[in-house]
Amino acid sequence: MNRQIHMVDVGTQYRNMKSEIDQAIIDVVESGQFINGPKVKEFQVDLEKFLDVKHVIPCANGTDALQIALMALGLKPGDEVIVPAFTYVATAEVIALLQLTPVMVDVDPNTFNLTAEIFEKAITPKTKAVVPVHLFGQCSDMEPIMDVAKKHNVYVVEDNAQAIGADYTFADGRTQKSGTIGDIGTTSFYPSKNLGAYGDAGAIFTNNDELAAKLRMIANHGQGQRYHHEMIGCNSRLDSIQAAILGVKLKYLKNYSAARQAAAAFYDQAFAEEEWMQTPTRQHNSTHVFHQYTLIIKDGHRDALKAHLSAAGIPFGVFYPLPLYDQEAFKHFVPDDLDLPVTEMLCKSVISLPIHTEMDEEILNHISGVVKGMFKTA
Ligand SMILES: *Cc1c(COP(=O)(O)O)cnc(C)c1O
Repeated sequence: MNRQIHMVDVGTQYRNMKSEIDQAIIDVVESGQFINGPKVKEFQVDLEKFLDVKHVIPCANGTDALQIALMALGLKPGDEVIVPAFTYVATAEVIALLQLTPVMVDVDPNTFNLTAEIFEKAITPKTKAVVPVHLFGQCSDMEPIMDVAKKHNVYVVEDNAQAIGADYTFADGRTQKSGTIGDIGTTSFYPSKNLGAYGDAGAIFTNNDELAAKLRMIANHGQGQRYHHEMIGCNSRLDSIQAAILGVKLKYLKNYSAARQAAAAFYDQAFAEEEWMQTPTRQHNSTHVFHQYTLIIKDGHRDALKAHLSAAGIPFGVFYPLPLYDQEAFKHFVPDDLDLPVTEMLCKSVISLPIHTEMDEEILNHISGVVKGMFKTA
């Protein structure tokens, strides 16, 4: 195949809606309202409707969103925050930055997510918050997690950077969007995320009016009224041009998720007979929006598959090659007896194949053909 294959194809995606995006950008430039203009408010309201959540607080990026969320909870230095060790660094970084103590825990080997059991076992009298990460596009099992959190009086901040648009179904049949179930949810609109801007951007969600007021204030230098600063905050704004772009793309998010799900279903079927890998597990009570299509490669063959894909010019990702507790920056937070075998196994055996909104049969056939040829080449 002589077409270039991308992990994420934002170029083709743009060309498919070029006139709308171009117009949205021109409108902002002509309005001259680059910061907190009407486009930011418009996107905020559209996203509140889409998520069916009371408050969306736009901000500068997904890491800030997590930091502001934790700042709003009024925690004290040394308070413990439980976080899965198999995640992007940002989730734990903000905890450490705020002088809170990240308590790293393991994840479920099939969903890659935190479970209520793992969470409950890690609770101590110092535990004040937990940050479930909806990794690769599927919700953590939020109903039992919320039950445990309520029982022990622990705040829940959902890191929804990878799962925007996923639906979680409660035992009574009610559904809610990922990121709107905990006390606070956060997301990132980094360009390669499922709803990606053309630069940095992020948002915070909550159904709690009091927390919303505080989050809004913290994101804006701790001021309610202009030049009256009630608390220490930061400067974390969503820029109007990014908001205008996100407003256009939000209309397509359902289609984007469907395109990712179709590509995942194609891979699943192509790999159904391959005993040397495990395809992504679907949880019965969450839809999967496939931020990543991540395989577990058995018997230590992961690195051979990397070489095989590279030789064929097919990009891939390893999310994540190192557990948080093996990162130099976090060594002070790792107890001597920490043993997280699932995280350890996943870091050695996961690989993510290209998945995006612009995949077609030719590309999917080619990639899956190469993967399946792994043990067939002489
Ligand atoms: C991308 C990501 C973040 C950080 O978002 P930025 O916008 O890059 O700051 C946080 N957590 C997870 C799980 C992510 O994937």
